[in-house]
Amino acid sequence: MQDAVEEQCFLTDIAARAVLKEQGYDMMCPFGHIHAMQGNQQWHLCMRDALATMDATHLLACLEDALCFSEKIHGPLLPLVETLSARG
Ligand SMILES: [Zn+2]
Repeated sequence: MQDAVEEQCFLTDIAARAVLKEQGYDMMCPFGHIHAMQGNQQWHLCMRDALATMDATHLLACLEDALCFSEKIHGPLLPLVETLSARG
């Protein structure tokens, strides 16, 4: 018997990329992570494995959380290049 009741729209890499693209972000998958990228800024959203258990709404919630979190922690974001060169 197939369980047809729980019909949900889980994400694939391609679907997730399309969802982020609609929001104006590129998707990166470094080391099994899903990151959203815009310009030289990058935000960690979730693990790649987790895509198979989440839908587009959930992914967008992760994106919102990541954006809020980075603003709270870092304040105005420094350009990555400056941050790296400051470390020598
Ligand atoms: Zn990450």
